[in-house]
Formats: sequence, C-alpha cells, structure tokens
Amino acid sequence: MTPCKTLLPAVLTAVLFSAPALAAPPPAAALPLTRGSVQVNITNGHVEGNVCLSDRPMEARDAFVLNAGLNVARVTDGAGAPVDFDGWYAPGVDGEARVYAVAGTPATLCVQYVGAFPVYAEHDAPADFKGMMAFNGDSARFTEQSAWLPLSFDPKARVRRSESRYDLQVDCTGCRFLYLNGSPAIEGTQGRFGSDATRPILLFGGSGPITRTAQVTILNETLPTAQVDVLSGMVKRIADQHGRYMGQPLAERPTFLRMVTLNQVERDRHGSEWGFATWPTIAMSGSVGKVAGALQAGGDPAQQRVQYLAHEMAHYYFGTVNRPQGPYFWFLLESTAEFLSIKALRAISGDAAADAYVARLQSAIDTQDTPPLSLDAVDEASDLDETYRYGYGPLLLLSLESQVGQARMQAFMRGLLAAPSPRNWSDLQGIARRAGIDADTWQRWQARCVSGGKRRCGT
Ligand SMILES: [Zn+2]
Repeated sequence: MTPCKTLLPAVLTAVLFSAPALAAPPPAAALPLTRGSVQVNITNGHVEGNVCLSDRPMEARDAFVLNAGLNVARVTDGAGAPVDFDGWYAPGVDGEARVYAVAGTPATLCVQYVGAFPVYAEHDAPADFKGMMAFNGDSARFTEQSAWLPLSFDPKARVRRSESRYDLQVDCTGCRFLYLNGSPAIEGTQGRFGSDATRPILLFGGSGPITRTAQVTILNETLPTAQVDVLSGMVKRIADQHGRYMGQPLAERPTFLRMVTLNQVERDRHGSEWGFATWPTIAMSGSVGKVAGALQAGGDPAQQRVQYLAHEMAHYYFGTVNRPQGPYFWFLLESTAEFLSIKALRAISGDAAADAYVARLQSAIDTQDTPPLSLDAVDEASDLDETYRYGYGPLLLLSLESQVGQARMQAFMRGLLAAPSPRNWSDLQGIARRAGIDADTWQRWQARCVSGGKRRCGT
C-alpha cells in the first residue's frame, strides 16, 4: 500500500492516501492564519462561513479558491471595507474549487459565503472523493482539498496554499462531536478550535462515538477493547521508536477517523476501501477495526499496517515540526517519512519484513522504463514523481546509510529535521557535513549511488 497519494475520482476503488500538502509553505516568518466562524447543518447540508485570511504568502495574495458549491456573499479587508473581486462570471476553476481574483491585495482578506450540498443519507451517491464537501446523513466531512474554507491561491503557479494556523468557531446542527485536524475532538454541537502550527484544515462533525486512549483517538466507531489495545500498543511502539531515532519525542498521536462514504453502498458491493491521511488524522472508509484486525492477525497484513502507520506518524517530524519547501520538497516530506517507516518496520517486525519491503521498492525501480532523475540535478519540486518520492528517495537514503554508518545517518536525519529546507545540493551536503559525513564520503556516495540517476549503487 502506498501512502500519501492524492486521490482522484477515477481511482476511487483503490486504497490511496493523500499528501498533507500539495505545495511548500511560504518562507516568511509570519505563518498564514485562518480565523472566523463556520455553521454547518448535517441534516440539510447547509454551510455558512465568515472567514478571514491573514499573513498570506506574497505570491498568493491576488486570488483565493473556494468550493464550487459555495456562493461568495461579500469580500472585505480586515477593517470591513469592501474588496473588489472577480469570479462572478466565467470564473476560473481549480479542481473542485472556483478561483476568485482579488483587487488591491489587502493584508487581510475576509470572505462571507453560503451554500448547500446534497445529503446522501442512503450512501448511494455516484461518487465520493477527498475534494467533496460530504454529507452522508449523520456526518459532515470537509478536507482541506474541498476548499470549505477560502484558501490563498497563487494564480501564476496555480498552486493552493492549503496549510494555515487557525482560530475557528464551528457550529454544527445535528452533530454530537466536532473535530478539526490537529485539535482534540470535542463533544457538543459547537466549539472553538485553534492551532499555532500550520495545518491542512480538515473538519469532521458526526454523531457517532469517540474512544480516547493515551495513544490514539478513534472517531465515529466503537472498537472491541482488545482491538483498541492492540492499536494503542502499536502506536506507542512506533512513537517510541521514532522518538528515539529522531532524538525528540513524537508529541502528537494519531486520530483514526471512520468514514461512511457517500457511495458506501457501491463500495461495499465491491468490497473496496478508501482512505487518506492528513497528519494527525488517518481516515478510512468502512472500519478502523480492519487495521487493528490486521495487526492482531500478524504476518504480512500486520507488517503492511506497521509500515503504513510508521510512515504516517513520521509526518509529525517531516511535515509538521519541519515543513519542507523548495526543490527537494517531496524528498524531504515523503522519502524521509518512508525511510523512518523502514527503520520502524525493522525494529518492530524484524529484518525479514524490512528486507522484503526494501526489495519491493528496489524492484519497482529496476523495472521502470527510464532511469530515475539524478538527485543532485533536481531543481523543481515537481521533478519528483510518486515512484521517486516513495521508492527511489528512501532507497537513496538507505544507500547513504550503508555508506556512512547508522550513527552518522541518524545524525543526518536529525540534521534534516532541525535545518531549514536545503535549496540545492550544496545545502544538502552542508547538513551532511554537520552530521559528521566528510566531503570524501559524501562524494563517494554521490558518484556510486546518485550521479546520472543510478537505479542501484555502483551500476
Ligand atoms: Zn506520506
């Protein structure tokens, strides 16, 4: 199973997982902030918002996107003065959202909006995907991809800025609990949620149960105690392993979210599953119990889940504490998480499990039509495709480890965590040098394993 992929409607029957961010956050010291209030009604699908964006990235101040099912009532600056905007007629479109151009680039941009969405209480919708504002009769699910909040948009690069700090009041008619990604779930129909860390902002309001342990929160499903225990136990082992390796504790724990999808009837007919992870949320259709069940079963199913959980939990470090940006964005976000997941798989499930996993990654690279791009020649984040992010990147990190030894590799990973994102190859080497990897060793690794896009070291 490949984690952290962006979901497309065409591949809904596969188990895929979405990236926490599609683009690098801005380098400015002031981090983007989203504040305001949103009202939701899970019975009739009504949504109203009054939301302000401040500390927007410079290159994304001329436009914002908002879900195509939402109508903009008015746009104002932070002082309440009207702001001219375009998008009433022949609007630009970006996926599930409309693009609105803004005049005058005010420092703070406030958007009032209202909309209503179909409620699929019979779970018989023609489709469901991560960009839907999904009402299934007893819950509302809005991921960052749905643009349920206005998102700053860079019209030149056509990139959304989906991550933001937040201070949001949410009222939900019909909900029993409310959850925003990165905040504790609250029981009740209203609550104020805040995050000082930038996050992709996901809302889930539902009427189901909540289970909390020291290690996990399980939303919208009751699991047998034995399954809660096995899930909690595994999360603790992975957190301990990552914490030891990275030299700082994993200070957040995952929230497992059970979704009954809009098209669950069709999905059940085919036995298909769908999930996504937006750290610290791990959302899955059907049942969270399947993860716990696989862990209980042992063998290959358990190892797959250990690796998957370890990958997602590694995004606490790479994606949350350190927010990658620049040309190595995907390498710093996903290849590092994948590398840490392999370390955890080895520590928890043993050498045979880790070796088999690495062999699968290597064979995917060996059988690719074209050789991988040389890491020392990357200059655009988009240069690195999924096979690179989840396959070749982690293999390169493993090859560096075999060149420099475990202790220096650990120091290198800690260095990547502590440092601003390297902007070029010499920045990356600088982090290696500070980790005790001398120039000769680095250049030997580069020549043997990197330059020219080698599928394997020495070839
Ligand atoms: Zn990932």
